[in-house]
Amino acid sequence: MSITEQSATESLALLKQGELTSVELTQAYLDAINARDEQIGAFLRVDGEAALARAAEIDQRRQAGETLGELAGLPIAVKDVLCDSDERTTCASKMLEDFRPPYDSTVVAKLKAADAVLLGRTNMDEFAMGGSTENSAFKLTRNPWDLQRAPGGSSGGAAACVAGGLAPLSIGTDTGGSIRQPAGLCGVVGLKPTYGRVSRYGLVAFASSLDQVGPLASSVEDVALLLATIAGHDPQDSTSLDAPVPDYLATLNKPLDGLRLGVVREHFAEGLDAEVEASVREAIKVYESLGATVKEISLPHSKYAVATYYVIAPSEASSNLARYDGVHYGYRTDVAKMISDLDSERKELEETDDKEGLEKLDTPLVRMYRRTRDEAFGPEVKRRIMLGAYALSAGYYDAYYLKALKVRRLIRQDFDAAFAEVDLIASPVTAEPAFKIGQMADDPLAMYLVDLYTVSANLAGLPGISLPCGLSKSGLPIGLQLQAPPLAEEKLLRGAQMFQAHTDWHKNKPEG
Ligand code: GLN
Repeated sequence: MSITEQSATESLALLKQGELTSVELTQAYLDAINARDEQIGAFLRVDGEAALARAAEIDQRRQAGETLGELAGLPIAVKDVLCDSDERTTCASKMLEDFRPPYDSTVVAKLKAADAVLLGRTNMDEFAMGGSTENSAFKLTRNPWDLQRAPGGSSGGAAACVAGGLAPLSIGTDTGGSIRQPAGLCGVVGLKPTYGRVSRYGLVAFASSLDQVGPLASSVEDVALLLATIAGHDPQDSTSLDAPVPDYLATLNKPLDGLRLGVVREHFAEGLDAEVEASVREAIKVYESLGATVKEISLPHSKYAVATYYVIAPSEASSNLARYDGVHYGYRTDVAKMISDLDSERKELEETDDKEGLEKLDTPLVRMYRRTRDEAFGPEVKRRIMLGAYALSAGYYDAYYLKALKVRRLIRQDFDAAFAEVDLIASPVTAEPAFKIGQMADDPLAMYLVDLYTVSANLAGLPGISLPCGLSKSGLPIGLQLQAPPLAEEKLLRGAQMFQAHTDWHKNKPEG
């Protein structure tokens, strides 16, 4: 087995025993990136030199007998949406192409403190809006299982780099499924923590009441390892939960005795691919064979989840993205050109004595805002801003935004009722395996519907995990999603581990 096929946990053990150095490990992943990332396109930027220097420093400190952090020497990839003071943070947007944050996000600071080796920054949908990574302003990411297919999104680079053996661990974000969906489509494990479990400080905001940072890796154990590092209370994030972080690794291999597994009636409906359904049902049988009782439950409001999400998320986005005005952050239109264009427009209006036109003419400041935003935001981001601004506008607020908040509450109440009867809920991650690149390019609504099974967890603030549970006839990964009550990550991970301990789906790797 080559070094890059080892799990992060295995590599960590070898590093600790002195049988592997961080330089060797980091070099192996850099070699893999060199060999394969031109095709996959998972990374936006890789700084090999910096990574090797960091690895060498950690090796040296280890040799000197220093006590090292819990991820010491392990390479990790970070989605390009978390601020890092040593790096640009672009959100895959022209708007932030040259943005250098003045501080580290809490998650990046924790990774640095844990002595991880930051390999590079992964591609994503612009500002995390999308489910295919096709909305990146910079490049396309391909699914390592089939290069004609999308890796999912918005953390498509984060999932593809793990699936392609380019990084053992990676950090993604999930606002409406963006960790779990690409993990499912790329055949890796991805966990969205409870809202507030991981700090959002320094995470560039998309929809603040839904955004969560979380781990992706090739096994449940590796995901638990990374979650343990990034979870915890942070006074810098007012929505961060002040609750102790359990030792996820210590309990991981304890099976859940008497597990009651919920299966949602509404989830197995029209539109679910037959192969996906068969794999998920097979996975549920595995749990039964391990002593779990399976209970059918109902989440009656889940049919409104996508609609509710696509009112709330764009509303919050339209307000969060107001800050990109060409003054405070990032891109600014060519001001000299803008002024000269404005002057010619004014002259023309004066010549034709168009009083109304003159009155409506932008001031230079307003024109600067408009041009900046028009030039630097991509089409999907503009669509979200328009949807959100509409839903929040006077006269429509009650009918859309407020209504969506009420339905959000009902969705959460459905889960509360369900979790009185079951410990975990099992479902598909997506209705179909990975789709072709470009397949939904002209149909944003079809793209939004891919989020059917994932957005509820964000609306309700619950943790969820996606893990491989099958392969389609055409050789594409199929994902199983498990959801748990708030702050029950320990249970969620133990439940996922039970499955992985008895199946080999997570061991499948794409060829190449
Ligand atoms: N696909 C969803 C969207 O486009 C989810 C995005 C996310 O979780 N960041 O909004």
